[in-house]
Amino acid sequence: VFAHLVQAPEDPILGVTVAYNKDPSPIKLNLGVGAYRTEEGKPLVLNVVRKAEQQLINDRSRIKEYLPIVGLVEFNKLSAKLILGADSPAIRENRVTTVECLSGTGSLRVGGEFLAKHYHQKTIYITQPTWGNHPKIFTLAGLSVKTYRYYDPSTRGLNFQGLLEDLGAAPPGSIVLLHACAHNPTGVDPTIQQWEQIRQLMRSKGLMPFFDSAYQGFASGSLDTDAKPIRMFVADGGECLVAQSYAKNMGLYGERVGALSIVCKSADVAGRVESQLKLVIRPMYSSPPIHGASIVAVILRDRNLFNEWTLELKAMADRIISMRKQLFEALRARGTPGDWSHIIKQIGMFTFTGLNPAQVSFMTKEYHIYMTSDGRISMAGLSSKTVPHLADSIHAAVTK
Ligand code: PMP
Repeated sequence: VFAHLVQAPEDPILGVTVAYNKDPSPIKLNLGVGAYRTEEGKPLVLNVVRKAEQQLINDRSRIKEYLPIVGLVEFNKLSAKLILGADSPAIRENRVTTVECLSGTGSLRVGGEFLAKHYHQKTIYITQPTWGNHPKIFTLAGLSVKTYRYYDPSTRGLNFQGLLEDLGAAPPGSIVLLHACAHNPTGVDPTIQQWEQIRQLMRSKGLMPFFDSAYQGFASGSLDTDAKPIRMFVADGGECLVAQSYAKNMGLYGERVGALSIVCKSADVAGRVESQLKLVIRPMYSSPPIHGASIVAVILRDRNLFNEWTLELKAMADRIISMRKQLFEALRARGTPGDWSHIIKQIGMFTFTGLNPAQVSFMTKEYHIYMTSDGRISMAGLSSKTVPHLADSIHAAVTK
């Protein structure tokens, strides 16, 4: 009965790793997937995570029962505090409901389905371009997806005018997906002043902010700085949704641990929202996994582990920033034609190089360097040893 099925294409991002794995070349380099690598090119398990796991193993009273539908309650509370700030008035007033979800993706999906079911507007605006999974997540959640201008290829920066025009023209009440920091794939973020203008415009039109926070702490190295845009929207007393992921900032990629918070107008509403979120989650996967959330809770509740985490996080962010400088310098040293200053200006894990699909495929074929066809490279996958090889390949691609 399935004989009529055609072979589905690989995922555009995860498919890059599939192709990379098949390449026997010893010089191959995977800059496709957004996962942190050490200077030696190895995946990193944070020290604090190892310590937290040890604590969990030593605790013989731990059991493996199902979590409640909303997940680990302590984790939820700590996650809301981490993203909204320990002194958040919304938390103090019990206006926030937080549910543990399956990493950032699961949080976006649960939030999307909740909105499709209970919010009066069914259109969500996403940035042009955006992370490739966004349109699929929200379409399947039952929302209708439209885009707003975000990136200006000519400046390789923010198209702020276009953004304001498009959000200004959106029907009142529309949902707007906002990358809290380290925009994927462009690495281009609004300034704080621009965020303030976006906030004013959105609040004046009653647009519903849905923040995607996949990189808190990874952009600037500071958890508080990276959460600032979200906190500005919460400080004005209005509603919003926030999807959090611990994949990148705790290196818990495979644990699938994240949270969805909905900031409501009152504690009463928040309670009812939570009851409805449970109805979304129960038929989807019943309840979330226990292990990743337990690791996060151990780290967030313990002052020493928390401080140690912030240092490890800063070290990861700093290494990425140093890769930006090294790549920029390497291209300058080669006299590669073009202005490459966007490499040092862009923020977070990715550089949106501006290389076109033909140049990308040339680099893959001739230099065994793998990246998404839109020219996005993961700076976290680079090291001092591999920068020269990448710079050679970019130089060859743009001068051939
Ligand atoms: N949003 C954005 C913008 C992302 O880049 C990612 C990870 N690539 C996610 C959400 C979700 O990732 P995860 O489900 O692994 O937490």
